[in-house]
Amino acid sequence: LTTDTLAAPLADPAPGPLAEVVGAGVPVPLVTGGTVPYANLDYAASAPALRAVADHVATALPLYSSVHRGAGYASAVSTAAYEAARACIGDFVGARSGVDGEHVVVVTRNTTDALNLLASAVAGPTLHLDVEHHANLVPWQLRGARAVTAAPTLAGTLAALEAELAATRPALLTVTGASNVTGEVLPLATLAELAHRHGARIAVDGAQLVPHRRVDVAALGIDYLAFSGHKLYAPFGAGVLVGRRDWLDAAPPYLAGGGAVRRVTLDGTTWADAPARHEAGTPNVLGALALAAACRTIAALPAGAVQAHEEALLERLDAGLRGLDGVRPLTLWAGSGEDVERIGVVTFTVDGYPAELVAQYLSAEHGIGVRDGRFCAHPLLDRLASGATAVRASLGLGSSAADVDRLLGALRSLLERGP
Ligand code: PLP
Repeated sequence: LTTDTLAAPLADPAPGPLAEVVGAGVPVPLVTGGTVPYANLDYAASAPALRAVADHVATALPLYSSVHRGAGYASAVSTAAYEAARACIGDFVGARSGVDGEHVVVVTRNTTDALNLLASAVAGPTLHLDVEHHANLVPWQLRGARAVTAAPTLAGTLAALEAELAATRPALLTVTGASNVTGEVLPLATLAELAHRHGARIAVDGAQLVPHRRVDVAALGIDYLAFSGHKLYAPFGAGVLVGRRDWLDAAPPYLAGGGAVRRVTLDGTTWADAPARHEAGTPNVLGALALAAACRTIAALPAGAVQAHEEALLERLDAGLRGLDGVRPLTLWAGSGEDVERIGVVTFTVDGYPAELVAQYLSAEHGIGVRDGRFCAHPLLDRLASGATAVRASLGLGSSAADVDRLLGALRSLLERGP
């Protein structure tokens, strides 16, 4: 008997899932025959719905009806639930929506929609980094903004942003909360202070950060925050832009039509204030309710539990990948010696294997779901992988040590087999 074997019965248990998600462990057919339980390591693309979210949607489904208009009971219930959901989502991210309503919560389709809405509302030049997801890059590029190149260190990147803020005095700095490729987290309080010092507001693409860390916009000094329900354990179709009211009230409606108006005559239209101003058409009531249910469920978890769960799994994944020759994680600042926080998103290349082949192998022979490609971040992949594609494994509330170990075992088998 070895020391390891003797220590095993009393060792810390390998982390299991932190919360129940639907579809966990569904049987997946393998090309080699038979089935295995699905190991979902693709939370960064879309997280599976929490059981509590699915249950809430099932409860709401029989009573949902068009909001803000109908006089019937179901309409009244749906309107109350929709507005309560809006408040709940705002509370989840620390929005200050008191009597003076400094922050408003606009229900959008997703992060991309929310950032395009914000882009339509900004009067003035904007600044972004080159590491952004296309959702936080293309809308600004379309309006003539140029990206600041992230430096090989985080400190250097902050200095480059500060120099540009000072030189160009933009109206808005817009940054990701956490990279969807490297998982590295940006220091939002520092960036907010920097932006404000130079007269700019700050917007955060929270698509990846919000599912992994509590984000308090008021405490951090964030002026605008966008995120998606489908990455936060709710179904597709609803996201939000949380942000300061004045620009959103002053901007033309993002979409014109019913619901966004105060009064229409054949001579013209006067528009409602935000959020209604930017929510023309029948809103996604069930989507908003599902997103709010996810916020409530996550908020009820013990403080720090999400981060601790994920850090334990990330450490296991990192250590395992370090032990595999030829597997190269992509990082922006990890090699700089700085203390850079990360969420459970790891992207890597495998020497000698195209990324799409690795992803297909993991799925077809092991029932493991990862993502391959350039992750809607072409400029970043151009830089970190010379334009090549890569493989991304990402963790969430339903992930367990067993999922991580299966991925590591499958990669080991692939490497042993040889290209
Ligand atoms: N921003 C980041 C960092 C993302 O990872 C994603 C999605 O992958 C998005 C924005 C876009 O999110 P959605 O497709 O929900 O609009």
